[in-house]
Amino acid sequence: MTTPRIVVAGSANMDLVGLAAKLPGPGETVLGDDFVMTPGGKGANQAIAAARAGGECTFLGAIGSDSFGVTINARLAAAGVDVSSMRTSYGTSGVAVIMVDRAGENSILVSPGANRTFVNLSDAEKSLIAGADVLVCQQEIPVATVTEAARAAQAGGTSVLLNAAPARALPPDLLAAVDLLVVNEVEARAITGAHEPDVAELLEVVPRVVLTLGGAGAWYADRDGASVKVPAFPVEVVDTTAAGDAFCGALAVAWGEGRDLADAVRWASAAGAVCVRKLGAYPSLPTRADIEALYAG
Ligand code: ADP
Repeated sequence: MTTPRIVVAGSANMDLVGLAAKLPGPGETVLGDDFVMTPGGKGANQAIAAARAGGECTFLGAIGSDSFGVTINARLAAAGVDVSSMRTSYGTSGVAVIMVDRAGENSILVSPGANRTFVNLSDAEKSLIAGADVLVCQQEIPVATVTEAARAAQAGGTSVLLNAAPARALPPDLLAAVDLLVVNEVEARAITGAHEPDVAELLEVVPRVVLTLGGAGAWYADRDGASVKVPAFPVEVVDTTAAGDAFCGALAVAWGEGRDLADAVRWASAAGAVCVRKLGAYPSLPTRADIEALYAG
């Protein structure tokens, strides 16, 4: 089996996580407990997930010229992600200010920073995409950039996996270039406008769909008539943060290896399940050995 070449074009953030007994209301100051600072962003998380799952992964995106950018860069590189084509824009990196109370309730403010400057793909970025097996995108960078990346992939014969998170409506010209759409129930509803997530409706706009259902598993369906419900692996849940990112990174690798997609979804489900067993985003993204161990039972 050859190592699949994965390009992730997406966001990179610094997550600033403050823990407190209660969340502050408007105008209120609350004395907090612990504070944790960790690189995140769906693009960076999925790039790390793909590298750990065994892909040869390149990240395309933008960090700021601040110290957060330096840390994000180092974290990606340490995970084996090729960051040599990542942009640095003068200004702040993307930042997520996250407050969590003792019941696990949170409030999150995301400031896109440099992610907003990731526009107008260069010829070099487009040719990296065109030379890959799978392009992976999410929705935390400008939609015009996602569309441009998907088109470059389509022109080069690269498969396009779009994880349409966070939820928002998608323009038809982007959907026309997507080979595999991965959505949770909220994101599915944002695309179809339907009350319930409707796989049949999603298949009207893209040829293959994975609907992720958290602890209830995942559902793969395509226009050739496949409809496979993949149960979640039973695990003890500690923290579900980044389960979707672990899932998408692993799915891209398995798909790039040429596995049949229903089986690739099973493998990715093992990655999602391993992730929920551990606390945090980055530390819980599984290695290939972790995934194989759960997948093989
Ligand atoms: P998102 O975080 O994007 O909403 P999900 O929560 O649906 O994504 O999780 C993605 C995948 O991770 C699921 O389809 C499932 O395979 C796996 N997963 C998530 N939560 C659990 C869980 N509690 N137990 C086992 N597997 C899980």
